Amino acid sequence: MKIKKINIAIDGHSSCGKSTLAKQLSNHFKYTYVDTGAMYRAVCLYALKNDIMKDGIIDKKALTDSLKYINVSFNYNDVSSVSETFLNGVNVENEIRSLWISENVSKISKLKEVRLKMVAIQKEIGKNKGVVMDGRDIGSVVFPNAELKLFITASVNERTRRRSLELKDASLEDIMKNLQSRDHEDSTRDENPLVIMDDAIQIDNTNLSIEEQFNLALSYCQKAMAD
Ligand code: C5P
Repeated sequence: MKIKKINIAIDGHSSCGKSTLAKQLSNHFKYTYVDTGAMYRAVCLYALKNDIMKDGIIDKKALTDSLKYINVSFNYNDVSSVSETFLNGVNVENEIRSLWISENVSKISKLKEVRLKMVAIQKEIGKNKGVVMDGRDIGSVVFPNAELKLFITASVNERTRRRSLELKDASLEDIMKNLQSRDHEDSTRDENPLVIMDDAIQIDNTNLSIEEQFNLALSYCQKAMAD
């Protein structure tokens, strides 16, 4: 049987394990992995550090003018087996995962100019196929013709619990509030909102182990590659 090279689009709610699954699939198929959330997080970090965003208010003109100076790239760290995010050549992988960035990023990611730039980069990466990309608008905007679209979710309690294992200093209440407000902002914004596409396969992983989710997704990938 001939195996097709495909693009795999993974969308879903905040902190539902999209990246974990995307990494597993990219390792398995030797595909390129792109964490698009990291790209928006890096832009947010730039805006905060350069006083373009202060107290939740964004200087849109300054941000638009700065976009040409913002370069986000990924580098695979062989030691930690993690694809790390670089902002203008500086490793920002840890910094972009903080609650500070999580609390501000949805205000940045809703801006049209920011999305246009990020989506153009993402489309370019996917043009030769063989990419696993996770985010909010991958199946709807970035790869509308992806051979496989997955939409991942889990209960908000379970997502809060999992996130709290990574963010040791943040309270459960703050984490839950952040997840809920990001889900709301990401789903109700004008530009490329988070939607469940008709042709996406939905996976609720509240009661699935990482391994069970991987095996389930693997079977969908194998089917999409054989079709
Ligand atoms: O995936 P992650 O939670 O790291 O994404 C951080 C934020 O980036 C999301 O809450 C959302 O506002 C934004 N995002 C987006 N479109 C994507 C990926 C992420 O708007 N494709």
